Amino acid sequence: MDLRFTAEQERFRADARAWLADRLDGPFAKVRGRGGPGDEHELFDERWAWEQELGRDNWIGLGWPAEYGGRGASLLEQVIFFEEYARAGGPGRVGIIGEGLLGPTIVHFGRDDQKRAFLPGILRGTEIWCQGYSEPNAGSDLANVQTRAERDGDEWVVQGQKVWTSLAHWAQWIFVLCRTDRDAPKHKGLSYLLLPMDQPGIEIRPIVQITGHSEFNETFFDGARTAAENVVGEVNGGWRVAMGTLAFERGASTLGQQLSFENELREITDVARANGTGTDPVVRQRLAEAWSTLRVMRFHALRTLPLMETGTVSPATAIHKLFWANFHRALGELAVDILGAAGVSGIQGDDDRMQRLFLYSRADTIYGGSNEIQKNVIGEQALGLPREPR
Ligand SMILES: Cc1cc2nc3c(=O)[nH]c(=O)nc-3n(C[C@H](O)[C@H](O)[C@H](O)COP(=O)(O)OP(=O)(O)OC[C@H]3O[C@@H](n4cnc5c(N)ncnc54)[C@H](O)[C@@H]3O)c2cc1C
Repeated sequence: MDLRFTAEQERFRADARAWLADRLDGPFAKVRGRGGPGDEHELFDERWAWEQELGRDNWIGLGWPAEYGGRGASLLEQVIFFEEYARAGGPGRVGIIGEGLLGPTIVHFGRDDQKRAFLPGILRGTEIWCQGYSEPNAGSDLANVQTRAERDGDEWVVQGQKVWTSLAHWAQWIFVLCRTDRDAPKHKGLSYLLLPMDQPGIEIRPIVQITGHSEFNETFFDGARTAAENVVGEVNGGWRVAMGTLAFERGASTLGQQLSFENELREITDVARANGTGTDPVVRQRLAEAWSTLRVMRFHALRTLPLMETGTVSPATAIHKLFWANFHRALGELAVDILGAAGVSGIQGDDDRMQRLFLYSRADTIYGGSNEIQKNVIGEQALGLPREPR
């Protein structure tokens, strides 16, 4: 596989770099490098304005077909943009769930009227989405969702509870996996509904995380309503759509994510240099190992990216998730080891970012499918081991 970029791709890179530098050195300097792990609660209004700035110049939905308002950019162009975004210190995106999860799902599984209704708000950065999958008894065992929806005339009425709903307190819309046929087998009676958040039937309660902030929430539905046509895919056929969304979660942006890891590693290395731990042979080995792991991760991702774009969960996507999640959690541990005593004191002062990295990265091996679940996928699909009893 040829991993070099063409002259045209390099021109695209130069355009993206120039645009990002212009905005992030200028009117949006305040959000540069903000909103990352453990900092995702900060500067919401400013980062929402940033989302709309990206939308104005067509930097959202790069890979979506031009007929739906995207740029129809190739996979490598998307990779280039996400790399440049991370290199420039672009802030944590408030529109990430819309662009990364719901948008591709609508492009792939949605009807034309749904594309017209829901894609523009994501592309302009004006509508924020959240994901209503997990429930108290349905996380890894997602098909166990108990939130139910029933038809009432030309509307669906939703009853139940979701949990860990990231960004629900900011979102205007939620996509909800719910049970629409209680008599059907577990995976068959589910539908994928789109609901407006601003209505009396929805209550949001923030959950305070170990970082002391609330990125996610409990979301309660008590007679929440949405129009009958707001089902993506078939009624009772939501499982296939829900799995498609999960596969999109690990698309082209993963390359940009690796550059953010690289930025973090650079910061950690600077601390090691400054506080003297950089002369410790074990610390040096761990830093070098982190650097080489990042290179391997990059080449693995470039090789397997095309598979991630197809909307199916495969061993390649599972390996990738397992690989980066373990790496990032270990990077957080390395950061606090290098900080020494400062790493275990209360969160304050200059060491904040690293402590937050350590605390937040504990979540990496859980969300988007836990490590154990990824290993099950690899065991069953790549190694052909007997399926887990269900
Ligand atoms: C930061 C963060 C943000 C999140 N954001 C969202 C969001 O926006 N929307 C949303 O819907 N959800 C969200 N989640 C929820 C996330 O998807 C779930 O936490 C995840 O799917 C695991 O489910 P669970 O927490 O119910 O754990 P459980 O499924 O109860 O798992 C508990 C433990 O048992 C292990 N386990 C479970 N089943 C098996 C098995 N079959 N074999 C081996 N081991 C197993 C797991 O690996 C885990 O270690 C978020 C979670 C985090 C941490």
